[in-house]
Amino acid sequence: MVPVNTVWDSVQLYSVRCEECSKWRIIPSKEKYEEIRENFNENSFTCAKAREWRPQVSCQDKADIEEQDDRYIWAMDKPNIPKTCPGWQRLIRMRAPGGKKFADVYYIAPSKKRMRSMVELDKFFEKNPVFLHGGINTSMFSFQAPVPLDENYIAKRRSRAPAASGSSNTSNIPLEGYLIIPSKEKYEEIREKFNENSFTCAKAREWRPQVSCQDPADIEEQDDMYIWAMDKPNIPRTCPGWQRLIRMRAPRGKRFVDV
Ligand SMILES: [Zn+2]
Repeated sequence: MVPVNTVWDSVQLYSVRCEECSKWRIIPSKEKYEEIRENFNENSFTCAKAREWRPQVSCQDKADIEEQDDRYIWAMDKPNIPKTCPGWQRLIRMRAPGGKKFADVYYIAPSKKRMRSMVELDKFFEKNPVFLHGGINTSMFSFQAPVPLDENYIAKRRSRAPAASGSSNTSNIPLEGYLIIPSKEKYEEIREKFNENSFTCAKAREWRPQVSCQDPADIEEQDDMYIWAMDKPNIPRTCPGWQRLIRMRAPRGKRFVDV
């Protein structure tokens, strides 16, 4: 029942502001951007540095991109985030506007295993010590997410990062997310005919009239506050007056749950 999903990077363009003229210069690749960001506090960025890929550029030229350009949502990075290790990917996935969080950071291992926290990363290295032997360790990773330039993007106000930026937009971000069902009865009703009637966000409008696939997930599989128990589809609804209870067993036993 669990689909295998891919995370797509929400970021489409990378830019850095010149320390001298305050104009934004577009950085030609993610690799170059990460290289600049890694030592941003020590080596400030100026238009002169952009001559590496644009030989003629100077502070006299107009900006490559303006903060006011509303074709983009600006995600401001913290400075000095380590460059992504070779073979790994660091992806930013933006959340929908109005939530508490702006974006999530994911690391994808060379094996395609995806991690979104230091806890997950530690577990991964425990299981795959070959990386540690190869000289990779957790200090080379940062789950520090960018913050929105537009503070209204998120529900709660957050401080603005002064440093490098990337710009992003939010189109078609796939979520490995779930909608919370308001009652056990409703859940059993959906489960009973799950194979015949697939579940979509539209069906959740029965109890959440405005909800759509554009909204952030109520809960995500990666949320390690929970242990996920995946039901089989098409289990008959419990007869009136009866109860069907699930009791989980302790971890590492032979059985996961009893019905
Ligand atoms: Zn400049």
